[in-house]
Amino acid sequence: MKDVFCSLGSNLGDREHWLNSAVAALHDHPVYAIERAPIYETAPVGMVDQPSFLNTAVGFKTALDPQQLLSLILDIERDLGRKRRIKWGPRTIDIDIIFYGKEIIETEKLTVPHPRFAERKFVLVPLSDLIPNFIPPGFSLPVNKILQNCGDDSAIQKYETGNRPE
Ligand code: ADP
Ligand code: MG
Repeated sequence: MKDVFCSLGSNLGDREHWLNSAVAALHDHPVYAIERAPIYETAPVGMVDQPSFLNTAVGFKTALDPQQLLSLILDIERDLGRKRRIKWGPRTIDIDIIFYGKEIIETEKLTVPHPRFAERKFVLVPLSDLIPNFIPPGFSLPVNKILQNCGDDSAIQKYETGNRPE
């Protein structure tokens, strides 16, 4: 079993619902001991003329190999109705694999650790709630220090979650 950490984001429609649905969908698959970070709200990066994002992170254990895990998250994204027309445009749900144990993976379809995680506060802040002291493969500092050193100055704040049942 590997310890896996994924980042989740949504900026279309009922954003909290999409995040909760993605986590609920994970429960239908061979992933175990799912842990969730709080949800944060962040201003959009790239195309700024779009709704703000809700972001969170999840950690779990799985025996799925990296390719199987990628297919699983792409299936969940598709099932939740993500439209892929505009790169960096609005999306119901984006799920990225940030860490797969201590493995470094570079294939055409998959790069892990995720190539931009260290530059993005919306990834690092929820991740730091789950694994502040984890030193990612290829890095010499733990996640909480990578966050401190990250030059991303976008506004991010904890999101007041509704009482919607999952
Ligand atoms: P982004 O998440 O960079 O905004 P997309 O979600 O549209 O863009 O990109 C999806 C593609 O990125 C997937 O089809 C997958 O093959 C590729 N990819 C490469 N590395 C990863 C990763 N660590 N996690 C998720 N997808 C990845
Ligand atoms: Mg993605």
